[in-house]
Amino acid sequence: GVLRRFSTAVAVEEPITPPVQVHHTQLLINGQFVDAASGKTFPTLDPRTGEVIAHVAEGDVEDVNHAVAAARKAFDEGPWPKMTGYERSRILLRFADLIEKHNDELAALETWDNGKPYEQAANAEVPMLVRLMRYYAGWADKIHGLVVPADGPHHVQVLHEPIGVAGQIIPWNFPLLMFAWKVGPALACGNAIVLKTAEQTPLSALYVSKLLHEAGIPEGVLNVISGFGPTAGAALASHMEVDKLAFTGSTDTGKIVLELAARSNLKPVTLELGGKSPMIIMDDADVDHAVELAHMALFFNQGQCCCAGSRTFVHEKVYDEFVEKAKARALKRVVGDPFRKGVEQGPQIDEEQFNKIMRYIKSGVDSGATLQAGGDRLGSKGYFIQPTIFSDVKDGMPIAQEEIFGPVQSILKFSDLNEVIQRANTTRYGLAAGVFTNNLDTANTLMRALRAGTVWINCFDVFDAAIPFGGYKMSGQGREKGIDSLKNYLQIKAVVTPLKNPAWL
Ligand code: NAD
Repeated sequence: GVLRRFSTAVAVEEPITPPVQVHHTQLLINGQFVDAASGKTFPTLDPRTGEVIAHVAEGDVEDVNHAVAAARKAFDEGPWPKMTGYERSRILLRFADLIEKHNDELAALETWDNGKPYEQAANAEVPMLVRLMRYYAGWADKIHGLVVPADGPHHVQVLHEPIGVAGQIIPWNFPLLMFAWKVGPALACGNAIVLKTAEQTPLSALYVSKLLHEAGIPEGVLNVISGFGPTAGAALASHMEVDKLAFTGSTDTGKIVLELAARSNLKPVTLELGGKSPMIIMDDADVDHAVELAHMALFFNQGQCCCAGSRTFVHEKVYDEFVEKAKARALKRVVGDPFRKGVEQGPQIDEEQFNKIMRYIKSGVDSGATLQAGGDRLGSKGYFIQPTIFSDVKDGMPIAQEEIFGPVQSILKFSDLNEVIQRANTTRYGLAAGVFTNNLDTANTLMRALRAGTVWINCFDVFDAAIPFGGYKMSGQGREKGIDSLKNYLQIKAVVTPLKNPAWL
C-alpha cells in the first residue's frame, strides 16, 4: 500500500526486485558491445541499498580513441551524413517506436540505477524521450541552407552541414532525457557521436542505444562510453578529432571541459550547468496552490534538478502561512522504495551526494536558519533523506548561494517587487525562475527583469521538445531542445559562384 509516514516506512522496507534484467554492461563502439581495452570494470550501485547492480566496462583514453575513430569513419565515409534527411528521419521514428515498446524496461532500469520514482520514469520521462526523438525526426528532413542576395552578379548559397563528430558528456540525474537532449539534435543534423554517460548511471543509455541500432542506425554513428570524468570524459573533451562538445553537469566541471576543448582543437562547446533558481511567491497568491508548486519545484527528482526552485522567496504578507503549510506538505511527502506505487521520493544518487546534502543541512542549522522539517537521513541503508525545510534563510548563507542538489527547501522573506528582483538576480547562476502571481503587471515585470534562461509563470518544470533550455551567466552557454539546439550541431558554409548570364540580379 501507499506509505504515509516516511519516517518509519523506509526503515522496515525490503527493496522490491526491479522488473528488468541488466543485459548490456559493455562499451558500445562501432555498433558492437565490447570490453574496455584495459579489461577493467566498475560497479554501478543501487541507491536504495548501496549494493552492486552490475559491473560495467570502464572506458578510458584508449577506448575513447577507438570510439572517436569509429565515429570519424562513420562521418567521413558515410553513409549517415550522406543519407537524405528523410531516411534519417525514418530511422529516428522507428527508434521512437521501439523506445515506446520498451517503455517499462527502460523506466525500470532508470529507477534501479538512479533511484527516481518508477511512476515518474515510466509515465513522464520515457514518454518524453519518445516525444523528443519524434520531434528531432521531424527536423531531420527540414534542415536546409538558403540563397542570399549579393551586390554583384554572384550566386550565393549558405549551406548547413553537419559539424562532424560530436562528443557528449551527460550527468546522472536524468540519464535518458539528457541522452535525448544531446543525441536527438546531433543525429537529426547528420553527425556522428561519442557519448560518455555518468559513472553513477551507465545502464539505460546502453539499453536505448541498442534499440537505435535495431532501428537501423549505421555502425559507428553512436558510440557509448561508460566511465569516469577525469579519464574518459577528459579524453573526449580534449580529443583532436572531436569537432564539437556538449556537456551537462556542474559548473566546476563545465569550466574544466571548456578549458580542455580550448587547449586542444578549439572545438565549440555548449554547457548546461548548475543553478540556484528563485521561486517567487507574491502576496496575491493562493497560498495552498503556491505551496504545492514550490514544493514540486524543489523536491521533484529528490531535489536533483539543475533548475530546482531552490530559493523560495515568499512575500511577507503570506510568509507565515506559507511556511506552516510548506512544512505540513513536506511532512506528508511519501519517501520510500521508488518501485513502490505512490512513492514521491526515492534515495539520493550516491553516498557522495548524500554526504554533501547532509553537510548543507548542518550548515543551514549552523548559520542560523530555522529547521522546520526533516534534517536527517531515513532508514539505515541506501541514501534516503527526509524532506527538509529551512525558513528564515538569509541571502548570504551557503544554503542560499550554493547548489545543494537535494531535498532541502530554503524559504526567504521579501517585502517588495524591486527588492525581490534584485535579490533573485544576485547569484552567479541564471538557469530558471518561477513566478507565482495573479497580477499581470507583476508577471510582466518579473519575466523581463529576471536573468534566467527559463521563467515559469504560475507553473514550474514544464518541459517540452520545442521549448529551448539553457542558462544565463554561470549556468551555461547555448540552448538545448527546440530549434536552437540544431545550431549547435551545424556548420555553416558560404558558397559563391559568378553568375554569367543572370536572369535576375
Ligand atoms: P559532474 O559535473 O562532475 O559530472 C557530470 C559529468 O561530467 C559526468 O559524466 C562526469 O563523469 C563528467 N566529468 C566529471 N569530471 C570530468 C572531467 N574532468 N572531464 C570531463 N568530464 C568530467 O557532476 P557530479 O560530480 O556528478 O555532481 C556534482 C554536482 O554537480 C552536483 O552536486 C550538482 O550540484 C551538480 N550537477 C548538476 C547537474 C545538472 O544537470 N546541471 C547534473 C548533475 C550534477
